[in-house]
Amino acid sequence: MNEGFLLVLSAPSGCGKTTILRQVMADLSGLSFSVSHTTRKPRLGEENGRDYHFVSPEQFIALRDQQPAGFLEWAEVHGNFYGTSRQEVAQRLRAGADVILDIDVQGAAQVRNNAEPVTVFIAPPSLEELERRLRGRGTESEENLQRRLANAAQEMEAAPAYTYLIVNDKLEEAVLALKSVIIAERCRRRR
Ligand code: ADP
Ligand code: 5GP
Repeated sequence: MNEGFLLVLSAPSGCGKTTILRQVMADLSGLSFSVSHTTRKPRLGEENGRDYHFVSPEQFIALRDQQPAGFLEWAEVHGNFYGTSRQEVAQRLRAGADVILDIDVQGAAQVRNNAEPVTVFIAPPSLEELERRLRGRGTESEENLQRRLANAAQEMEAAPAYTYLIVNDKLEEAVLALKSVIIAERCRRRR
């Protein structure tokens, strides 16, 4: 069986990445979502082990400082730690799945240095629309929301480093674009 490839997806918070990803994973087989570790508290409806491995800062630091390192990449994002388990990713790739890393721009830069991922940046149509979506989702305190919006402009500056850029204006079009990227990457002769 051939090893799968790594697909790194980044987007400013509230852009619609989770919504797009859910649809793409329902429509395409052979994809595996890498469940990150985070010190952030679960949101309503989030499940431990499915959306994230929710851990304490002490547990996170122990994994980070393990030898060899427990994380393929890690970063502090919006005031919390997030990291990708090296072992979990390797197992899924070996099983032949294409592994999706939903990670921020700092994490993406680290993965680019260690592997040859396909990278996709998802952008909002505008920062005003991003704020509407983030408020509409209703999951963040005002302080968290302001922090995520302030980070968005900076995250957008990293977009040119990605292989693909998808603007999430109309949801169905963004879903089709991401599916097209994955299908095209599966047709590559060489990696
Ligand atoms: P992210 O995972 O990037 O933080 P979400 O997937 O949680 O973002 O989406 C944030 C909010 O925006 C959700 O309420 C979602 O329903 C909404 N949303 C996602 N895509 C679109 C779109 N293309 N048009 C309008 N609203 C959208
Ligand atoms: P949220 O708290 O909204 O779930 O995620 C906040 C940000 O953290 C998003 O940009 C998301 O992509 C990023 N993120 C989630 N998991 C990881 C991870 O394992 N590593 C890194 N670097 N970022 C992550």
